[in-house]
Amino acid sequence: MPDIIHLLPDNIANQIAAGEVIQRPASAVKELLENAVDAEATQIQLIIIDAGKSLVQVIDNGIGMSETDARMAFERHATSKIKKIEDLFHIKTMGFRGEALASIAAVAQVEIKTKKANAELGTYIEIENSAVMQQEPCACNIGTSISMKNLFFNVPARRNFLKSNAAEMRHIVDEFIRVAMAFPKLFFSLISNGQQVFYLEPGNLKQRIIQILGNNYTAKLVSVKEETDYMNIYGFIGKPDTAKKTRGDQYFFVNNRFIKSAYLNHAVNNAFDNLIAKDSFPSYVLFIDVDPSQVDINVHPTKQEIKFEDEKIMYAFVQAAVKHALAQFSIAPSLDFSLNAEIQNLDAINQPFTDEKKGITTSSNLYQGFTKKNQAHFIEPSTKNELNHWKEFVEKTKSASGTIQETEEHTESQLFSYEKKSGTQPLLYPNSFSSASFIQLHNTYLIAATLNGFIVVHQQLAHERILYERYSTAAHSKQMPTQKNLFPVTIELATADAVLLTDLLPELTIIGYQVEALHNNSFVIQGTPADVLQGNEKHAIELLIEQFKHFSSDVKFSKREKLIRCISRQHAIKAGQALSQKEIQTVIEELFQCTTPNITISGAPTYLEFKEDYLDRMFGK
Ligand code: ADP
Ligand code: MG
Repeated sequence: MPDIIHLLPDNIANQIAAGEVIQRPASAVKELLENAVDAEATQIQLIIIDAGKSLVQVIDNGIGMSETDARMAFERHATSKIKKIEDLFHIKTMGFRGEALASIAAVAQVEIKTKKANAELGTYIEIENSAVMQQEPCACNIGTSISMKNLFFNVPARRNFLKSNAAEMRHIVDEFIRVAMAFPKLFFSLISNGQQVFYLEPGNLKQRIIQILGNNYTAKLVSVKEETDYMNIYGFIGKPDTAKKTRGDQYFFVNNRFIKSAYLNHAVNNAFDNLIAKDSFPSYVLFIDVDPSQVDINVHPTKQEIKFEDEKIMYAFVQAAVKHALAQFSIAPSLDFSLNAEIQNLDAINQPFTDEKKGITTSSNLYQGFTKKNQAHFIEPSTKNELNHWKEFVEKTKSASGTIQETEEHTESQLFSYEKKSGTQPLLYPNSFSSASFIQLHNTYLIAATLNGFIVVHQQLAHERILYERYSTAAHSKQMPTQKNLFPVTIELATADAVLLTDLLPELTIIGYQVEALHNNSFVIQGTPADVLQGNEKHAIELLIEQFKHFSSDVKFSKREKLIRCISRQHAIKAGQALSQKEIQTVIEELFQCTTPNITISGAPTYLEFKEDYLDRMFGK
């Protein structure tokens, strides 16, 4: 038998490896923008054609590359940013893996023009399928311009997997915002299909936030700033009235890197306490600076998740800093500002995190311990467990506060004959409807007698199901009726939201909205579905955008499906609302006219049934 193992050719190996780094045009945008920042550019322009499917180009005025470096840059594991293992724990640059350019060159056609400040001529290189096609000296500006053309031209399966231009563009705008937000002193511009989408003059963080998130934040930002031995935190939180119904404008950066952390997010929410409604989310843009040795950025390949050496302290700091800020601006009573006593007693709390302190920390035993631990993480990066642990914690607290969970799991109790499939509907007790005998408990649960027991209906979940089926039918047959606004309402949105709304317009029409794009991110609302209150149109659209964002990471649903889900949720009667007998009756009647009355769109039960024989058994009869 001949031997059968061989090494993959470089271009195939690169293509496979590229899959992790470059998933869509927006991944290239992130990498190229970060490279420009690392290259000390002060002006960074992003040019997009066809949502990045045809072109992603980043032009910077940074340090540029020599001819040899420009060639080297496209090799896998080629980086100027780390040299030895210890460097990993002092990372100050955005990149360090040396994979981005190699990955881009494996799945697209790349052109680079680059020149260093002291060089007479620059270098032009063309690469395709990881191979250099052309290289020559060229006259060009100081800095670097990299064009990525025809992404996935050589991997058709992945090209087909890309979403609509509007959807891909939204991802690009997200990545652009995350980098631009973190570096307000740099000039950023984004031009898409020849149109200027962002033009961000250099400024301070507050100005950058307003440039990006919109003018409605002008008088609404509260500064957060705490310096300690352990970490610094600074940035802004939105005053309580900027809180949104879903996670909207929430940005966390650790050492200038955008991160997602349900855990830290929970800390901020907690600090807002009862200043905002239970079901709404505060806006914030917060930067945490920690000694790089205190975080492990290897946890997640796309580096959006992060692991702190001591998450408990992080949580307490974030929460305390936000509380403090709210108290200083007299938004919350200052008595409310308290740190967990256990944490308050730590030495590290009161002094600023100075350079001198950093020196001491680095030589301390504690640091050495962390460093060793970090090395272990690096070699064996399976720290998922702990993350799960936090997730569990956060999920638990979330469900405790009574919000509806997307992925709620229900263990079926033996008591209930609840089944996930339809078909076994309870027969309502005939007298129920005539004798006004429905009971509403805690303004949330509706109790109705059945022929052989009783059911407990959750009013909000049931109504969501009813609306969902109503909207679905409408969306698949004919257009829903529209109520015309007497006075058309104009609405002005932040750029990212405007991109999203434009994308949704055709679907919105089907379910009864009449919205037209004006100019400069403005829209005019001409009509709404019948169940939106007059005067409430603007709010309904804003809410819709927020909820849609919340859903938009969910790839398995079509745009229309997501929209219908959002709207059903938005328009449903809420738990806690008192209902008249007539209303209770309507909800119950309409629920049992549904095709699938017994579960919500996310799989939770809409009602529980208690049968007589179960009850008898429970009573030992
Ligand atoms: P990494 O950023 O992780 O080092 P990349 O593949 O993104 O890896 O880039 C490889 C190297 O190419 C970088 O380390 C840097 O030296 C150089 N480089 C990339 N982009 C630029 C740029 N815009 N200006 C100057 N040098 C760059
Ligand atoms: Mg890089």
